[in-house]
Amino acid sequence: MAKKTKGLVIVFTGNGKGKTTAALGMALRFVGHGKRALIVQFIKNLPYGEVRAARRFGKSLVIRQMGAGFCRFGTGEAIKKHKRLAEKALSFAVREIKSGRYHLVVLDEVNCAVHFGLVKLRSVLEVIRLKPKSLHLVLTGRWAPKPILKKSDLVTEMKEGKHPYRKGVKAQKGIEF
Ligand code: ATP
Ligand code: MG
Repeated sequence: MAKKTKGLVIVFTGNGKGKTTAALGMALRFVGHGKRALIVQFIKNLPYGEVRAARRFGKSLVIRQMGAGFCRFGTGEAIKKHKRLAEKALSFAVREIKSGRYHLVVLDEVNCAVHFGLVKLRSVLEVIRLKPKSLHLVLTGRWAPKPILKKSDLVTEMKEGKHPYRKGVKAQKGIEF
């Protein structure tokens, strides 16, 4: 039986609900073991419950929102702003990853950011390459590109069974945000 431990690259992707919440649950586990977790949220800019909750955990659970919100990533000025923010989020994440302060780093919605061309796939692969060996890195979001999956140790693809949106139920506190 293998006993070795290793910092994992973990991907939560697919169309079903639960990618971000799975990453949040994992972060909570780390905190419970006296370890530190950082969650960098790409694209997002709303006061999700987790952002408020993290404040109660001080430096052991840090959530940094670094996006300008979901929207149609068109061309022109709008996309430029999203790109600038996403690149800034990635370089912030790189700095924090290299600092060795955290045991778990989550790049929330980074797969989407790559998919929409907000950050380069190459830059994300570089983050995977340069991470400290013991650090666990989680990448969430739909449409995880194949090269990222290839470099991962754990991939879970959320599959939609049912979703209340389809019945016209709107986003609810605690469930969606
Ligand atoms: P969550 O943040 O709830 O864990 P997620 O990270 O898996 O969800 P995302 O792809 O990040 O989902 O999408 C964010 C939003 O889209 C959430 O509010 C979620 O409820 C909604 N959503 C997720 N899956 C579906 C689906 N299959 N149909 C419609 N809406 C969905
Ligand atoms: Mg998500």
